[in-house]
Amino acid sequence: ARLLGVRLETLQRQMRLAGMSEEAEYDHVLTSDYAVLLAEEFGRNPIVNDEAAFDIYPPPPNPNSSSLPGRPPVVTIMGHVDHGKTTLLDTLRSASVAKGEAGGITQHIGAFSVPVPAASKSSEGPRTITFLDTPGHAAFSAMRARGAGVTDIVVLVVAADDGIMPQTKEVISLIKKDEGKIGVVVAINKVDKPGIDIENVQKALMAENVQLEVFGGDIPSVEVSGLTGHGLPTLVETLSAIAEMQDLRAERDGSIQGYVLESKVHKGLGPVATVLILRGCLKPGSHIICGQSHAKVRVMNDSNGVAVKVAYPGMAITVSGWKSLPNAGDEVLQGTEAEVKKAITNRQRKAEIEATLVDVEVINSTRRLERERRELQQELGEEAKEVLSQETEQVPKELRLVIKADVSGSAEAVQGALQGIGNKEAVTKVISSGVGDVSESDVMMAKAVGGSIVAFSVNTPRAIETLAAQNEVSIISSNIIYRLMEIVKERVISLLPVII
Ligand code: GDP
Repeated sequence: ARLLGVRLETLQRQMRLAGMSEEAEYDHVLTSDYAVLLAEEFGRNPIVNDEAAFDIYPPPPNPNSSSLPGRPPVVTIMGHVDHGKTTLLDTLRSASVAKGEAGGITQHIGAFSVPVPAASKSSEGPRTITFLDTPGHAAFSAMRARGAGVTDIVVLVVAADDGIMPQTKEVISLIKKDEGKIGVVVAINKVDKPGIDIENVQKALMAENVQLEVFGGDIPSVEVSGLTGHGLPTLVETLSAIAEMQDLRAERDGSIQGYVLESKVHKGLGPVATVLILRGCLKPGSHIICGQSHAKVRVMNDSNGVAVKVAYPGMAITVSGWKSLPNAGDEVLQGTEAEVKKAITNRQRKAEIEATLVDVEVINSTRRLERERRELQQELGEEAKEVLSQETEQVPKELRLVIKADVSGSAEAVQGALQGIGNKEAVTKVISSGVGDVSESDVMMAKAVGGSIVAFSVNTPRAIETLAAQNEVSIISSNIIYRLMEIVKERVISLLPVII
């Protein structure tokens, strides 16, 4: 707006008129196309700096994808805590070390691959299966949040002696979101234990709408024991069969597209990242970029600590040579040395601009907020002014809450749960309750009444977070109502007078 010599509001109005309503919200960096369009709207003659807009993008999709070579499936094991995920992965991992191979010490790098035995595979099926073993599935969630589905198949582990538990249900709802895009296998685990009832577990899964093959659905279930290794060959075979149906293919040559699964600073090698390759092939000496970090690939190792000369799709390898530590979940791409350097400069500048934009926005919003608070107090009149100024003497003390939730049903539930917590000395009071992400007007309202915001299953944009912090409005945020109640109770208690 400053460049064009117009007021911010004028620019935003023009943007909305031009169909850029989303971009007209704060915190957006315009693409050069949009910027050009806008500048023209204001009668300017824009010149695009292509150099400054340069970045590296994934290679375009191959039009003849059906003729590409096959690639191994990427499998994630998920399930409730203590249902045996780690044990299962450990047993599978030890199978990944070829017998008699020298120096076969397996290391945890975030993924490993298991061979599919020749006897159980068809000629078209994959030769290996890549298992992600990222702790807490952090990378899985990070990548999913960015819309990058690296997982082809999810193994849902359910302990036969424990059945369906809260995290089992969470995984089921995650799977449902990706229905049709990812394969699913249920592994009923701990079948070595006495007195277990497998059919009972299967029925419970059906009740959760997991359509098992045994009941005519299309999701296979395999009985396994991570402890004894029972059923693991069947599990691998089942995964291989699903992958064959998925017909997974990718180029084994050209620039890579991959994702960082884990990263850490290694004493001798400096920053090291495990990269899962999805397309292309990676060799030492290649130039790669990941977020705001880049590398000339030095050493590549597999999960057995064996040096790798070339990495293909489906392989996860540790890569050293990074200038700084890349983030887990970030995309890795390849270019020439010059391209990578140019892209890094531009990405860093873009990040700086974004940070400045947030700062500017926060300053503007704070000013507006102050003005609106004054107006609101005037509108509310003398009585409210008194209430607001006499906060300290008021009995009972009130913890005023502005509730935001994902859907109206949950907003009501949260209100119901929080309303009236306290006693005659201090209570909660719900000032308002609504649906959607925490917004500037929520901060304004909370500040005007000296209250806090309760955010249930909704996001708080970074700019709003900063705005709230600057205005000393606290945001209580959780996806679990029970947890919100706990925090609110603590806050109410802290309002109580101290008795000496
Ligand atoms: P995670 O939290 O899902 O990773 O579960 P763990 O792999 O840490 O296992 C939790 C507990 O269950 C440990 O005490 C394991 O020894 C035990 N466990 C795991 N798999 C089996 C199994 O197949 N049979 C039996 N009997 N116990 C198991």
